[in-house]
Amino acid sequence: MPTLVAEEPQIITNLKPILGASGVKGKKVTTLSSQVTISDFIQTIIKDSPTEIDSPFSVIDLRVLINLMNKWTTNLPTVKPFYAVKCNPNISIIGALAALGTNFDCASRAEIESVLSLGVSPDRIIYANPCKPESHIKYAASVGVNVTTFDSVGEVEKIKKWHPECEMILRIKPEEESGARSSLGLKYGALLNEVPELLKAAHMAGLKVTGVSFHIGSGGADSQAYHGAILLAKNVFETASRLGMPKMKVLDIGGGFTSGSKFDEASLHINDAIKSYFRNDEDLVVIGEPGRYFAETTCTLATKIIGKRVRGELKEYWIDDGIYGTLNNIVFDYAIVKCTTLRFGSKPENVTYKDSKTYPSTVFGPTCDSVDTVLKEYPLPELEVDDWLVFPNMGAYTTSSGTNFNGYSSSAKHIYLACSSSVVREQIMF
Ligand SMILES: *Cc1c(COP(=O)(O)O)cnc(C)c1O
Repeated sequence: MPTLVAEEPQIITNLKPILGASGVKGKKVTTLSSQVTISDFIQTIIKDSPTEIDSPFSVIDLRVLINLMNKWTTNLPTVKPFYAVKCNPNISIIGALAALGTNFDCASRAEIESVLSLGVSPDRIIYANPCKPESHIKYAASVGVNVTTFDSVGEVEKIKKWHPECEMILRIKPEEESGARSSLGLKYGALLNEVPELLKAAHMAGLKVTGVSFHIGSGGADSQAYHGAILLAKNVFETASRLGMPKMKVLDIGGGFTSGSKFDEASLHINDAIKSYFRNDEDLVVIGEPGRYFAETTCTLATKIIGKRVRGELKEYWIDDGIYGTLNNIVFDYAIVKCTTLRFGSKPENVTYKDSKTYPSTVFGPTCDSVDTVLKEYPLPELEVDDWLVFPNMGAYTTSSGTNFNGYSSSAKHIYLACSSSVVREQIMF
């Protein structure tokens, strides 16, 4: 039996488990009433700050995690979520998710350390990186993280040498990744014709191959791709049996989920494919590795306008975060970001909120590189220095991949924890 265990997730209706979670406990969490949006909260933070507020900053709405976990449990009751830490390694997000009953997908020693530091048991972690440095494998062995993925013979040799008790999940390359913003099949996943050789290599090395994993690609991939990939995984289960290996038990459907209506679509394809292809596999353990699904809509970024230049009709602004910082998702994740405005610098008599004319505007990040451009020809009212731009849905592949280029410390350092009202929150805010 695979060692991957999960507390049975339950529909959560009260906040207690979250507020008491490691990574959250002891921190200030502002509970918002149903009339108060995250944008209102941000406005209050800026307005009520007795000193100059540190900018940029982020708000994490823990309610979003609760809602998404409830949604996951409803839609995919048989699939255990292993949150992909790389997507957003914020300790409060990890701690809250642990309290909600998710397990974790870690890809490095540091990610494993940070999850363990919250008191999460190592049997709730899958080391889902098909190519691992030896020192990280030794570390995983020493702390009891005993499940990993592989897609090459070289990895079999390393695991045999440093962690022979580790269970092996064969990562395969799904055929279709259409629509994905970030294709992972370019780098990972065994081709179908490589599967027998890899299975044999692991078996001959005395390792337990307990399952199959795949990743259909991150961000907006075609939900139907899950169906084809689950069929492919079934073929690998059968290949293993044909080779006389012990029966496989773990089907790992990877990540690639987004949190909007596409999640319903994906769930239908997944449930349907599992029912069709794994009907007779009674002790099947199905796991998923959602990253973006949980992180994306949880965080909102607030940045201050620190400079302005007017060239005729063209208004140009500088903000204090950019593509070398939190907004690096524009480059690495092909994100198309949106923002709203908060007026603090504009003189009140110039501000007509609702019907103020907009201009196609440019928004630059703070570094001296011209690549550091966040928005182009973006419709904004005329703004002033000390006004703010607020970017919703900034939780996925943002703070985890920023840099310190030009001395601008990577990402929003100040993080406020909030919990919006349980009324279902709009995914795209404002
Ligand atoms: C990045 C990654 C994930 C998370 O992908 P999302 O598209 O953010 O859900 C899951 N599994 C593996 C192996 C990954 O590399």
